[in-house]
Amino acid sequence: MEILVTGGAGYIGSHTCLELIAQGHQVIIADNLSNSHRLSVERIQSISQKEIVFYEVNLCYEKAIEDIFQAHAIDAVIHFAGFKAVGESVEKPLMYYQNNLESTLVLCKTMERHKVHRLVFSSSATVYGMNSKSPIAEHASLYATNPYGRTKLFIEKILRDWSKTIPESSVALLRYFNPVGAHSSGLIGEDPQGIPNNLMPYITQVAAGRREILSIFGNDYDTIDGTGVRDYIHVMDLALGHVKALEYTLNSKVCDAFNLGTGKGTSVLELVKAFELVTGQKVPYQISKRRSGDVATCFANPTKAKNKLSWEATRDVVQMCRDSWNWQRKHPMGYLSS
Ligand code: NAD
Ligand code: UDP
Repeated sequence: MEILVTGGAGYIGSHTCLELIAQGHQVIIADNLSNSHRLSVERIQSISQKEIVFYEVNLCYEKAIEDIFQAHAIDAVIHFAGFKAVGESVEKPLMYYQNNLESTLVLCKTMERHKVHRLVFSSSATVYGMNSKSPIAEHASLYATNPYGRTKLFIEKILRDWSKTIPESSVALLRYFNPVGAHSSGLIGEDPQGIPNNLMPYITQVAAGRREILSIFGNDYDTIDGTGVRDYIHVMDLALGHVKALEYTLNSKVCDAFNLGTGKGTSVLELVKAFELVTGQKVPYQISKRRSGDVATCFANPTKAKNKLSWEATRDVVQMCRDSWNWQRKHPMGYLSS
């Protein structure tokens, strides 16, 4: 099949492109490189030994997206494109609402015009807000605590409304937990701009000597060792989850949500220790105050994805640490090191 991958030059998108190609699909990437590098597209090509069609376009520009749909017989779309930094979304809400919502609306309108009815959307566990008790299943109540989360929530609702109007449509809303790791080649990986917001890239940057010390945000939570517990999931498992979701959209005619997580919680200290053990790198850390908005524990109930998508995560924390480090070690300054 010909799959349009929006945001395909980014972290999760680039890994998913490789998995799609491995399963025999043709990939067309649309990305404006606002948070990614052209080199990641070149790397997808060199790892897969396949030519990739790449459009450097802003999805909010309807004409540019229309041109892509005119040029290709697209069978389905995986929609990763969007801004994703929680803190920035609080500071620049309009920028987030405009980019994330408008790009999705333009995409859906264009899909409708071209009778492309199958869509896989990157949602997030952030739609569960702060009140859900782990393990979290898909029927838990939905609530967003910041503009970024609200864009995910709004888009989920928009896609549900939209799909009701098109009987043949099929939409999978994938709620990711905490993606980490990298392709085993170490040629593509997560390359955050500026100071990383997320734990794993912070750990790898400390280990690489790019940052001095990791601050652990609180050790007085009601968890195994007082530090926050999350459901880390290897990005290649996540990538396969998209391929499975795509296959699911072939046979379903609904809009449905799926958790993509391992179902296992790991604390900050457990992750730091696992990283040190696997990589032999020391990660100096200090305990600092809680980060506002954090919950003590968040992990998935991934049963629905197992039953309906025939998907489950197989890679453990050891592999996540090893592959994250392999990428960081080879690219201490991210793609700019290349
Ligand atoms: P990323 O920033 O690496 O990738 C997103 C890509 O979208 C980037 O390459 C960026 O250049 C592109 N993009 C943004 N706006 C665009 C626009 N208007 N037109 C064209 N391209 C545009 O992020 P990621 O970590 O790969 O995340 C992918 C998706 O998954 C995002 O929607 C994100 O919100 C969601 N998600 C990510 C995580 C995570 O922890 N990484 C967790 C849950 C959900
Ligand atoms: N965390 C931390 N130091 C950091 C970044 C994160 O202690 O520099 C903690 C954070 O408080 C949470 C866990 O690590 O308990 C995962 O944080 P991340 O931002 O990666 O994911 P999220 O909280 O959005 O699920």
